[in-house]
Amino acid sequence: MADTRHTKVLIIGSGPAGYTAGVYASRAMLEPILVQGMEPGGQLTTTTEVENWPGHSEIQGPDLMVNMEAHARAMGTEIISDLITSIDMSKRPFTAQSDSGTVYTADAVILATGARAKWLGLESEEKFKGFGVSACATCDGFFYRGQEIVVIGGGNTAVEEALFLTNFASKVTLIHRRDELRSEKILEDRLMKNEKIEPLWLHELVEVVGDENPLGVTGVRAKHVKTGEITEIPCKGVFVAIGHAPANELVKDTLETHMGGYVVTKPDSTETSVPGIFAAGDLTDHKYRQAVTSAGMGCMAALEAERFLAEQGGEEG
Ligand code: FAD
Ligand code: NAP
Repeated sequence: MADTRHTKVLIIGSGPAGYTAGVYASRAMLEPILVQGMEPGGQLTTTTEVENWPGHSEIQGPDLMVNMEAHARAMGTEIISDLITSIDMSKRPFTAQSDSGTVYTADAVILATGARAKWLGLESEEKFKGFGVSACATCDGFFYRGQEIVVIGGGNTAVEEALFLTNFASKVTLIHRRDELRSEKILEDRLMKNEKIEPLWLHELVEVVGDENPLGVTGVRAKHVKTGEITEIPCKGVFVAIGHAPANELVKDTLETHMGGYVVTKPDSTETSVPGIFAAGDLTDHKYRQAVTSAGMGCMAALEAERFLAEQGGEEG
């Protein structure tokens, strides 16, 4: 028979939102269970320096997340390495099935499943994924020592990845579909001053080209968005950094979503369309998508879950 665990508050996700919810729910004596998912620590484990987490002018993303995990654990959060595969929100307690076979039942749930990298959707991108095409410079940059690399995108992630990749690459071409970046100015400044980086404005990637045997990238073809002219760029690595989409698989058919799948919460609140289910962090936030705002929403979700449970206790008693 499946192992069943009951908790007052089940927190799904181990990014800044999940761990902060853990700290607050623990301090409210709610003895939360937090399920970490496939990416313990979340998106910040895929980056290097974080320079906008208050209290640290610079901290490595993975270190920050190890600290947050330790903090949540020290306050009393039970942290479990498991993956939630479905949630039944039709009645309380809510029931979550997991990859390990454990069934979690919970009086309230905090969804903090964050966001995942988007892909361009090209056939050739799919073909060379893991063989020269990547969405994580910190994970794969090391393989391209002394090689030429292409980065796609014009946001903070693309600029940071391009800068980071200059530690390994002989040259980085940043291909962006417009002629201005949407990244922070401080990052744009660093990019423009870096002699190893060459921006290619107003271009879109149309094809990744490479060898069959062994499978590997040899270059890309990029099209000018106005003239249609094709430019061929030799490279060994292609890093796609075109943004992130909310990780909403568990709830997209049951909760209200908007703006491309972000879970809708009530104004100034983390309450979703189902009472007792709260959502925090990048899963709900199409606008700011920062570690500190995610952590703030994790705090709000735990405080709101506490109030919800107190009201339920009042109703039952
Ligand atoms: P995430 O960090 O996305 O974490 C989601 C968590 O949910 C993961 O632990 C995952 O395992 C878990 N999960 C997902 N599905 C399930 C499931 N089914 N069951 C259980 N668990 C599940 N922001 C900044 O403020 N400063 C920066 O310098 C910065 N740098 C960044 C660099 C990069 C390369 C990237 C990609 C993002 C960066 N960001 C930065 C943005 C920041 O990382 C996010 O805003 C933040 O991590 C969002 O936190 P979150 O808790 O909502 O979710
Ligand atoms: P983003 O800000 O959404 O930027 C995505 C970029 O990719 C944009 O420049 C966009 O072009 C381009 N793009 C999107 N779809 C494309 C397509 N199909 N083809 C070609 N280009 C495409 O995403 P992000 O850079 O991943 O950042 C996500 C969030 O994390 C942001 O809120 C960001 O601030 C945060 N973050 C923060 C830091 C930091 O604080 N240091 C670091 C990394 C990320 P357009 O510009 O034309 O739309």
